[in-house]
Amino acid sequence: MNLVDQARQVLLITHVSPDGDAIGSMLGLGWMLRARGKSVTMACEDRVPSVYRWLPGSEDIVQRCAGPCDLVVSLDCSDRRRMGTVFQPEFESLPLINIDHHVTNTEFGTVNWIDPSSVATAQMILSLADVIGSEVTEDIATCLLTGLVTDTRGFRTSNVDAVALGAALRLVEVGASFPEVTRRSLEQRPLASVLLWGQAISDLHFEEGILWTEVTQSMRNRLSVAENGDSGLANFLSGIREADVVVVFGERKGGVIDVGMRAIPGLDVARVALSLGGGGHPQAAGCTLQGDLSSVRREVLGEVQQSVKMQREGRTEE
Ligand code: AMP
Ligand code: MN
Ligand code: MN
Repeated sequence: MNLVDQARQVLLITHVSPDGDAIGSMLGLGWMLRARGKSVTMACEDRVPSVYRWLPGSEDIVQRCAGPCDLVVSLDCSDRRRMGTVFQPEFESLPLINIDHHVTNTEFGTVNWIDPSSVATAQMILSLADVIGSEVTEDIATCLLTGLVTDTRGFRTSNVDAVALGAALRLVEVGASFPEVTRRSLEQRPLASVLLWGQAISDLHFEEGILWTEVTQSMRNRLSVAENGDSGLANFLSGIREADVVVVFGERKGGVIDVGMRAIPGLDVARVALSLGGGGHPQAAGCTLQGDLSSVRREVLGEVQQSVKMQREGRTEE
């Protein structure tokens, strides 16, 4: 924490296509550092998704850092590339603190604080508050609870334990509203995105326990749905009883394909995501590949099938 104490202008960066943990942990830490008198810039390559714009401080999040800074902190980023274009070459010479909970983290920071036992980076920020003696205000609690709620889909993922629930209790005790956070960030979604799901669901493919579908640019254009990642569909499909693994291909502009994967407990999609240049958690992982949809699909499904087969046979991958 010496690095933070010495710094005056801190740049916080969270990952591209931000989710609730990305935004919530960055805002929570941002508020804590500001209360300690730091000048803080919070940045993310992509705009804050509309569902998180009610969070206190979200309007301060910028898409690139203009001013000077003397310390960079990355949040919820499992590798350097997840910081996107916000991380400029001139920041290479600055100390970088990497705070993350992904088991696949590549430890790209000067200081790396990686805790895969935390359900969310937001949970780590809450424990950091205690270590450095920062007050957890109602605003901070609301941001951090959003991270916990979204990464655990409302405390329903297989990694939820007493520590995670204890963290949530603590945040509620200082004023965060669990019903409001849940309603705004998990339950409510625009009609157009549900219509998009409908199209993807009408074309599901299922083979040997692997369920997959895709969201194309033309589907998005027809329904005027923004490009920003929607992990809700993969989460929803992961509830299908017959599916051991779910893969959702999301086509973005410029031949970029986002791949979201889910696995039932006992299977692990983080390692296949990592081998494809991405990362994540055993039960929820992803990667981003360049190419046309059909060739990316062929490559990814091939790797997933092979990995699942080996895991079922109890073999480790070479
Ligand atoms: P998603 O399917 O977008 O909800 O992502 C599930 C998990 O995989 C999250 O923990 C993400 O951080 C991780 N993930 C998704 N896409 C990528 C990627 N391109 N690179 C690294 N990790 C990813
Ligand atoms: Mn995230
Ligand atoms: Mn996270």
